[in-house]
Amino acid sequence: MSAMSSDRPVFDQALDAVLPILHDMKKSLRATPVANRAALDQLFSLPDSFLKKDPASPLVPVAPVAPVAPVAATAPVVATAPSPASKAAAAGDDGRLAKLAELKTKIIACTRCPHLVKSRTQVVYGVGNPFSELLFVGEAPGEEEDLRGEPFVGKAGQLLTKIIGAMDYTREEIFIANVLKCRPDMPAGEAGNRKPKPSEMATCLPWLREQIDLIRPKVIVALGLTAVEGLLGEPRTMREVRGKWLDYHGVPLMPTYHPAYLLRNQTMAEKRKVWEDMLLVLEKLGRPISSKQRGYFLEKGA
Ligand code: URA
Repeated sequence: MSAMSSDRPVFDQALDAVLPILHDMKKSLRATPVANRAALDQLFSLPDSFLKKDPASPLVPVAPVAPVAPVAATAPVVATAPSPASKAAAAGDDGRLAKLAELKTKIIACTRCPHLVKSRTQVVYGVGNPFSELLFVGEAPGEEEDLRGEPFVGKAGQLLTKIIGAMDYTREEIFIANVLKCRPDMPAGEAGNRKPKPSEMATCLPWLREQIDLIRPKVIVALGLTAVEGLLGEPRTMREVRGKWLDYHGVPLMPTYHPAYLLRNQTMAEKRKVWEDMLLVLEKLGRPISSKQRGYFLEKGA
């Protein structure tokens, strides 16, 4: 057996640890220059334990695995000390990335709702650009999100991704989070998802508040009434709030339908309502809007 093949399991484990980082970086490098910097800073801010697949590491939402032995020849893929460039970049962000990494570590280890700790696969922290000008807030992870550790990856999520694309953003350029970070538990043997309870939302909301304080979005979009209730702390009706600017601690808040509602009501009229809300968001952000974009989901002859 050659030296190379006897090293194989260790090499594979090291690759296993590094590939998710490279994957995230690749996604971010396609996005804005700010996100590029964020990806690099995040890479440099990773604790050494990440290479050992420490379950407490902020980027590893998977079940703990056996520790990886030190890899002498193949290890130096990831630097462990910040480079001068990354230090300079980090200095320009008020230490926000480091604070976000610290916050993520706390959130993914949260045990405030013991019943949800028992039922969840993992905490769903959120995904996207930590400096995003635009934040989408949903209600809670569903089954697929709980399994994948990422918000809005099921059918409703795929529709949200299309809406984001129609706005001329990518998922990597904006940030997506939920009011509740754990999947609401279901009675034994029952499939599907349930709405978070007000007490669960109240317990979890401080996490979202901290995320918002650090991300500092210019606009928040609340997807559905549960998100509106979570953010405002009181129930409202869709008729009352949809398409109107509200205020979340000084940040303009646009309530719109949850994409799951659109999946159940696929008329042009309902799609257009959401799209008009998104046009207001783009205007508020000063983004260019093409005439093609302005015309999306208009009935012919309207
Ligand atoms: N619905 C939500 O509100 N959030 C998710 O993450 C997925 C579906």
